Amino acid sequence: MDRTTDLQNLCTIIRTVHLEWKLSQRILGDETIMEESILQCPSCNNKNIATIFWGYPSDMSELEKEIDEGKIVIGGCLVTDHDPKWECNSCHHRWGDRDD
Ligand SMILES: [Zn+2]
Repeated sequence: MDRTTDLQNLCTIIRTVHLEWKLSQRILGDETIMEESILQCPSCNNKNIATIFWGYPSDMSELEKEIDEGKIVIGGCLVTDHDPKWECNSCHHRWGDRDD
């Protein structure tokens, strides 16, 4: 198995885990929304903050509305141990620790 195939497999796993996580957040009364309500950009103090969605969603249409509303940005598939959790919709500063 070459490295490209490994990465593609990894992306598929990440995508699945994140979609499940996202759905579970909705079902469980949604701690994410509570977090967002008190979030503030440490760089420009803007309160219009998006949660960074790591991995690629298989069904973009499901997330399109939230992306349009600035609630989510797609972080891509380069997941490391130091990925930020939030992105400011004003200055695009990223911060926080991805906790999943
Ligand atoms: Zn900002």
